[in-house]
Amino acid sequence: MEKFAQKYVESFMADLIAKNPGELEFHQAVREVLTSVAPYLQAYPHLLDNKIMERMAEPERVIIFRVPWTDDSGEVHINRGFRVQMNSAIGPYKGGIRFHPSVNLSIMKFLAFEQTFKNSLTTLPMGGGKGGSDFNPRGKSDAEVMRFCQSFMTELQKYIGADTDVPAGDIGVGGREVGFLFGQYKRLRDEFTGTLTGKGLAWGGSLLRPEATGYGACYFAQEMLATRGKSFEGATVVISGAGNVAQYAAQKALRLGAKVVTLSDSDGFVYDPDGLDEEKMAYVFHLKNVLRGRIKEYAVKYPGAQYFPGEKPWKIACDIAMPCATQNELDGDAARALVAGGCYCVTEGANMPSTPEAIEVFQRARILYSPGKASNAGGVATSGLEMSQNSIRQKWTAEEVDAQLHRIMSDIHAACLRYGTEEDGYVNYVKGANIAGFIKVANAMMDQGLV
Ligand code: NDP
Repeated sequence: MEKFAQKYVESFMADLIAKNPGELEFHQAVREVLTSVAPYLQAYPHLLDNKIMERMAEPERVIIFRVPWTDDSGEVHINRGFRVQMNSAIGPYKGGIRFHPSVNLSIMKFLAFEQTFKNSLTTLPMGGGKGGSDFNPRGKSDAEVMRFCQSFMTELQKYIGADTDVPAGDIGVGGREVGFLFGQYKRLRDEFTGTLTGKGLAWGGSLLRPEATGYGACYFAQEMLATRGKSFEGATVVISGAGNVAQYAAQKALRLGAKVVTLSDSDGFVYDPDGLDEEKMAYVFHLKNVLRGRIKEYAVKYPGAQYFPGEKPWKIACDIAMPCATQNELDGDAARALVAGGCYCVTEGANMPSTPEAIEVFQRARILYSPGKASNAGGVATSGLEMSQNSIRQKWTAEEVDAQLHRIMSDIHAACLRYGTEEDGYVNYVKGANIAGFIKVANAMMDQGLV
């Protein structure tokens, strides 16, 4: 990095860390964007003078609230709820809700910050936001999850709306939770609007929204692979996670002719050397979405597969890796193992799953590597399509939605090429995604004055 950019990043980060102590994930996300855009900012001093980056790193609003609820035995529990309304320069705040015990302000802010750039990349008019709670849905009954969602929404509904802030799902928040949240929102506000996305098909949801993040990640990977004359056909794919994103990434990859050999959860991973097929995939959907079981049960059902408790799948040799579980799940050692095993493409389905060291390993090895904010943007893009359908009170066919998703992923890829292609021809997708996402938001902020 040039001297100016390096100095700018370090002094900016020193201030940010002093102002937001202990928020490690937030620091990590800001540093990554800053490193990409600093050289660009140097060429546009009016953006520096107007402190655009400083404003982007300060949420427009943070809401933190108490969420009291009772379990099935009548015991009272208190969780903490969050909504970070990060940036509304190009549209209403938009971003998922996460229910996971690890949720804290740092994780909410990193996700909302990333979301701002991701939403800008989709080409749709959506600002950035994120919310959630440290509630752990694991092992809870449907009735407990419903009571929690109702309590959470009773407070959150004061701050959201179809033209203000439109939440969706994320880790621990799928169709069941969105249903409970939407039901309570409608009851309290007495309005049937597209205030949440990821809704059921019978009540305003879009076809292909459940599939969109995983499918979109595969469409993005296809574009990347095509730059090197490669494809999914015959490739071995390692996937982490077994939730919404992982399931549909696996399904699409296998339909594109790949051999998907792993899935995981926070307890361990399964390795199936024969690869998933449609029947095994149907079992995974049932296991995870109906029985709400653990991925180790896959190895009981299919004895050809092996379960590795407490481990991550990155030591399995593959052509393509798709981290689809959570942040910082793939570190420097894991990245080195992947590269040593012959992996030539890493496409992130999760948000910030690779550590900065892992990204450096991939980029040094000159393999294809895409950050989540580019390759997992298909989820929020299809949420944007759900918002459009709700506004015009129409429903598009799966083919129409899929065609739009395809187009958006290919436009994001083109934007990454435009801003991320380096002198030697290597595409730095991190740089490309960050600069392309930044420019639109920065220009909108300039147009709207000092707000
Ligand atoms: P789900 O809750 O459906 O699935 C999450 C999966 O990741 C589960 O298998 C879960 O295992 C695993 N996981 C969660 N936390 C950890 C952890 N700390 N360590 C290891 N494994 C973990 O979530 P999604 O599939 O929706 O989300 C996955 C990722 O994709 C997240 O980073 C999310 O932000 C991102 N994303 C999601 C989008 C969407 O549309 N849903 C859109 C864009 C990005 P376990 O059951 O053990 O917790």
